[in-house]
Amino acid sequence: MSKVFIEVVNPKGFDVRLEYAKEHRHNLAFKTFVDPHILDTNLQEVLENYQQKLHEFRGAISVHGAFNDLAICSIDKKIREVTRQRIFQSLEIARELKAKHIVFHSKFDWLRRIEGYKLNWIEENAIFWSQTLQKYPSTVVLENTNDQTPEMLRALVDEVNSSRLKVCLDVGHMNVYSKVPLKEWIAVLGQDIRLIHTHDNNGDFDGHLAPGKGAINWQEFSDSIAKYQLDPDIQFEMGLEQTIQALQYFREESIYPCNTFASNSKKEGC
Ligand SMILES: [Zn+2]
Repeated sequence: MSKVFIEVVNPKGFDVRLEYAKEHRHNLAFKTFVDPHILDTNLQEVLENYQQKLHEFRGAISVHGAFNDLAICSIDKKIREVTRQRIFQSLEIARELKAKHIVFHSKFDWLRRIEGYKLNWIEENAIFWSQTLQKYPSTVVLENTNDQTPEMLRALVDEVNSSRLKVCLDVGHMNVYSKVPLKEWIAVLGQDIRLIHTHDNNGDFDGHLAPGKGAINWQEFSDSIAKYQLDPDIQFEMGLEQTIQALQYFREESIYPCNTFASNSKKEGC
């Protein structure tokens, strides 16, 4: 059953979000560990503080993995090493927090028009993720960032063919970077979409606005989810106040996931 995740970025904002999540039966998505400064300084302290406070929390956890400047198939050996260190560090964090899923960015370079790059990217990423999934128990969901089409995510997920390598569809990113309509992204990625990052924009900047405040057609989004009978988790990638507004909008407009669970919507956080 679909779960609603609210975001925790700054450790200072954690207590308020934890209380809110408990009260509304939401789940928590941690973006704290994308910050390289935390990763290199007080990681253990932040992690233990979260774990202690999450002791009585019954909701699910999602973790956002490191992404800044990482390149799995860089030709520079040192960059590849740092990339692996950061990804493994993120996966350790996800294991510590018993996360339901961990998000990594796709990192396909859409500006590169070099013959063989696409095939090489699929091959190297497939080897990397197949080996990595053997070492860690997490379900990895790969997120479209500046992806112009769903093609590369589709190809990689097919190539790895694992129940633990799936997709996080970021609807806001799609609206900025892709000319392929949302309904086609949903048709192509279908059941492999396990998490949806929800935020709005006007197609020019990745503004992370509350849904309804930009140009995304949320009714079309909701209809496509229903058409393919999908049941992905939803993460509101915005501040708490905006998340509350967004949920209100989803309820009023009867948008997924606040449509399908009408009878137990309170229970599911809608
Ligand atoms: Zn996202």
